[in-house]
Amino acid sequence: MARVLIIGGGIVGLSSAYYLHKAGHQVTVVDKGDMTDSCSYGNAGMIVPSHFIPLATPGMVTQGIRWMFNSKSPFYVRPSLNPELIAWGLKFLKKANAGHVEKAALPLTELSLLSKKLYQDLSKEPGFDFDLVNKGILMFYKTEKAGEEEAHMAEKGRALGLDMQVLTPADCTKLQPNLELDVLGAVHYRCDAHLSPNKLMVALIKFLKKAGVNLLANKEVTKIETSGGKISRVLSLNEEFTADEYIIAGGSWSPAIGKLLGIKILLMPGKGYSFNLINEESVMQIPALLAEARVAITPMNGGLRYGGTMELDKINSRINMNRVKGIVESVPKYFPGLKPVVPAEKDIWFGFRPSSADGLPYIGRSNKYNNLIIATGHGMMGLSLGAATGLLVSEIISDTPTAIAIDAFAPDRA
Ligand SMILES: Cc1cc2nc3c(=O)[nH]c(=O)nc-3n(C[C@H](O)[C@H](O)[C@H](O)COP(=O)(O)OP(=O)(O)OC[C@H]3O[C@@H](n4cnc5c(N)ncnc54)[C@H](O)[C@@H]3O)c2cc1C
Repeated sequence: MARVLIIGGGIVGLSSAYYLHKAGHQVTVVDKGDMTDSCSYGNAGMIVPSHFIPLATPGMVTQGIRWMFNSKSPFYVRPSLNPELIAWGLKFLKKANAGHVEKAALPLTELSLLSKKLYQDLSKEPGFDFDLVNKGILMFYKTEKAGEEEAHMAEKGRALGLDMQVLTPADCTKLQPNLELDVLGAVHYRCDAHLSPNKLMVALIKFLKKAGVNLLANKEVTKIETSGGKISRVLSLNEEFTADEYIIAGGSWSPAIGKLLGIKILLMPGKGYSFNLINEESVMQIPALLAEARVAITPMNGGLRYGGTMELDKINSRINMNRVKGIVESVPKYFPGLKPVVPAEKDIWFGFRPSSADGLPYIGRSNKYNNLIIATGHGMMGLSLGAATGLLVSEIISDTPTAIAIDAFAPDRA
């Protein structure tokens, strides 16, 4: 049994706490906030084995440059001489090639499928009602080009054993008769699922508290001390914490935590927005992704949650209304009957996706400090991959064979 200190109480930190506790370890989680509104709450709730292609693809480079000149586009990089952004950009460009996409597909698929299975198991545990629905996700497209890309993706997905089916608009209407469509078609990612992230986070916190896991809110880690190649203690203002094993699960703040130890964790915060509209769930029962607009719509808590945009910039609390309008305006182009209104600023949620440059998460021991594990960098899939990451972290600490191979996620990879 090890004493474990987890820095960060988002989905990755709490899932790690859950599986570590189950394996018999003594766990403490410290968070700089109150653990009620991290990136793990307002996201689109999609569980996505279908997303076996990392963000860094050859097509993304040219598309990203085009998008940068449109204020309502779904992707934006604020040009800056920030050395982290430059290092991130160079690695992104290095990895945006077919070879990397090919190499990443299997590890990502294995991680996703493991996570989906774990959420299915978790949803059967008492107290874990988080509205897990296994109806898949529909990726709608309006253009021939996107249709071709999606059909190609579906073929690759099927080769990996994923259940994906190309649908005509008539097929889509059979699945959701109340949803008016103006699309060329869709791919039904039948391997996917969705859930309510807010309910999942609340259930995890409730379980962990009851189980005696120490969840400490409003404790920002500001200093980490080391000796003999190990972390010796972690400080938050005047309090100190000691443990046998330490985990960095600080989401987009992980690079700043790494800096306290002199280690580089290369990721950028990818800001995204979401908002909820009530009383619309009867229109849509299967979550939708809008291929060209990069918008996600998920039935949740009796309404629909709309989410999108990826702004790579320093962490800040500005809401860019133009990009929120971009999300709103894209919806009726696919679904003429669905006309969300631009929400008031106070009703817009935003979060920072911890985005690694190569699109793969970091899960594993640091090669600099031998009692440190890094678990972050899940980008747009952190909810989806949270449970599996937690299990892997617990297996690493328990020194048992991991459920899947984790070499591709090594934190110190090139
Ligand atoms: C609009 C949007 C839609 C999304 N949709 C999906 C989706 O459908 N499916 C999916 O899988 N993913 C989705 N994501 C991505 C997903 O939400 C994230 O990848 C995931 O929440 C990251 O979890 P995390 O635990 O790594 O980080 P976080 O949830 O950000 O948690 C990190 C925690 O660390 C704490 N922390 C930071 N620094 C310190 C410190 N110094 N000391 C102590 N604590 C610290 C923070 O307070 C925070 O609570 C979406 C994201 C956005 C923005």
